[in-house]
Amino acid sequence: MIVLLLNGSKSCTRAYKKRLAKWGDEVVEKKYDLSKVPWDGKSPSKEWLDALGVAVYKEYQFAVDVVQVLFDKKDWKSSSKTLRGTHFGTPRNGYELGIFWNRKGWEDTGAHELGHTKDDFVYTYSGKNLGRLVGVNDWDEDVVHKKNKKGNYTYDYDTAFNAAQKWVDEACRGRDTLANQAASLYKQIGYSLRVSLRKLTANTKSL
Ligand SMILES: [Zn+2]
Repeated sequence: MIVLLLNGSKSCTRAYKKRLAKWGDEVVEKKYDLSKVPWDGKSPSKEWLDALGVAVYKEYQFAVDVVQVLFDKKDWKSSSKTLRGTHFGTPRNGYELGIFWNRKGWEDTGAHELGHTKDDFVYTYSGKNLGRLVGVNDWDEDVVHKKNKKGNYTYDYDTAFNAAQKWVDEACRGRDTLANQAASLYKQIGYSLRVSLRKLTANTKSL
């Protein structure tokens, strides 16, 4: 998958990019000012999240799959004292979205939130159930939310994410086909519009 990482912190993202590359995911990073984001309870306001989806589509269309937002600690104004990050169940303008802030170990949270998008991505572009393909009952519960004996997230995703990679890659090919079809349709519509316009202008002249 191609992950758009909107970075509002000064954190170095090299290790994170390397970690995602191991699972076949690529990061497109963009510095982003998050100091004026309006918050509403635990998360940024719904309006801001919706507008973000629109802004991403305007700039990237099919060039990115998932959006991740890395906040600086000072800009993270969640009402929850313990929240490290969130994955939103509702995609914004077609992009799944995760947010988190740059405490020590934010890369674990980033990987966790990204994990939540993998099964949806595979299902969207190939119609397959990723959890079942890698031999678990429920991808989110049995892989992403896997816990150790103490009840903490293990963040140990190498085995499952590596096993998932070929299905994610297959879904990527599905996405590329769709993107090409959309682009060619767009071209055709543009062409027919230009032809109609030309005819219209010609007719107007002959009147
Ligand atoms: Zn989770």
